[in-house]
Amino acid sequence: MNMLRKSVVLKLWLLMVALVLLILYFTGVLQTAKLKQLYYDQQLELLLSEAKHLSGSEDITGQNANMHLLYTLAGALKGNIMITDRQGNIVHCIGMGMEMQNVTGAKINVVGHHDLPWSKSDLQSIMQGETVSYRGAYHFLDTDVLTVAVPFYKDGQAAGTVMLSSPLAPIEERISALQKITLSAGLIGIALATILSLLLSRTLSRPLLKMYQSARSMAKGDYSRRVEVKSQDEIGLLAHSLNTLAAELQEKITALERLDQTRREFVANVSHELRTPLSIIQGYTEALMDGMAATEAERNKYLAETHEEILRLRRLVTEILDLRKIEAGGVELKRQPIDIEQLAGQVYGQFKALAEDKEVTASLDFAPGSYTVNADADRIRQVLINLLDNAVRATPAGGRVKVELLEYKDTVQVSVTDTGPGISAEEQPLIWERFYKVDKSRARTGGGTGLGLAIARQIIEAHGGTIGVSSKPGQGSSFYFTLPK
Ligand code: ADP
Repeated sequence: MNMLRKSVVLKLWLLMVALVLLILYFTGVLQTAKLKQLYYDQQLELLLSEAKHLSGSEDITGQNANMHLLYTLAGALKGNIMITDRQGNIVHCIGMGMEMQNVTGAKINVVGHHDLPWSKSDLQSIMQGETVSYRGAYHFLDTDVLTVAVPFYKDGQAAGTVMLSSPLAPIEERISALQKITLSAGLIGIALATILSLLLSRTLSRPLLKMYQSARSMAKGDYSRRVEVKSQDEIGLLAHSLNTLAAELQEKITALERLDQTRREFVANVSHELRTPLSIIQGYTEALMDGMAATEAERNKYLAETHEEILRLRRLVTEILDLRKIEAGGVELKRQPIDIEQLAGQVYGQFKALAEDKEVTASLDFAPGSYTVNADADRIRQVLINLLDNAVRATPAGGRVKVELLEYKDTVQVSVTDTGPGISAEEQPLIWERFYKVDKSRARTGGGTGLGLAIARQIIEAHGGTIGVSSKPGQGSSFYFTLPK
């Protein structure tokens, strides 16, 4: 029972066998009944026509019968011929082991003779010209027979009966032969069902078991297992979707793990970044409270430093929040057609004075063309500010910062080139990461957060654009981004 509950193939096998047996049983039973009836009817008809034939020929009925003919006919029929007189007394009884001729004196009457089926009313019916038949055990003949009885006439009057019997055994034999055929068909059917089940177990049960194992290992956290898909039927589809599921889950889980990792790093970085300004602020305020600043000028210096650190903290927090928002997709870009040429001009204007203070030559170059893109002006301005701020800060006195606009078929490119220290090839991929600073000490004086480029990349990618850098240490850097038109 447990086996049955566990195996779909066993279930199928039982179902098929049951079906074969059921069909065979019904066809067997119906066929046998129908055939029996058919054989009986045929035999009855044969007997009847012979009996009628006999009753019509005067020379073989009654006491003056031509016995030779009676013997011949009984032999041909392999049956028994019985002739009685009007009262039912047996005159002759020939065939099937009987040889009674002209036994009128013995007065053996078919009616009431023990174990003979005939009744008085039967005899009356026969005498009135009706045909009476009987099927079953028959005394005298010691076997099951089919019998028909008809009257015979002399001088236009019913003079007695002719009763023809033939054994049922041959019919039964034929039917049992047929039943044997049906039985062997059943056995063949069961054998076929077994072979079919074995084949099915290959194509049905085995892949299902493999899928089961795959699903189990997925539950245990192993998504590397795949089911081999050969068929394109429902099982194949199932296996295929299981494989896809495993692959997708694997991908998702790896992504989740990566996300978790970056989140943890992010929190660690943020705490680290916050700690430095906070401890500086703490140091200055404690010094002020302890009265360590002797002069007004010194006190003002401490306050100014504290203020600087507070501004730094503020910027850090704003940038962190900004980045998180962009990354989480929480910022909806307010896209509208903007003129990059105009936007770059504005930002350039802001930084020109700063650059000149540092004795850095700034320039803005662009060929005439259409620099209109569909973008969020505030966000793109932020990117420009970040890039220009980096460039001006990186460039020493006497250096140059150049902003260039280029128009391509489908895109607009903005580049900011400086003559600063440049960035080594190993560090070029790293500068886009949050909190990454090439020169850790520079961050202290320059006030960078290490978030500017990370934010810039998020913004540009959200616009469907690309951002990158080409740089050689000692020769300066060129940051560029493109936006689709
Ligand atoms: P920060 O706010 O510190 O500038 P960014 O993300 O903008 O942070 O830049 C990351 C790091 O990349 C900077 O600390 C700096 O070391 C380096 N970097 C950025 N721009 C330039 C540049 N134009 N020349 C040289 N180094 C640069």
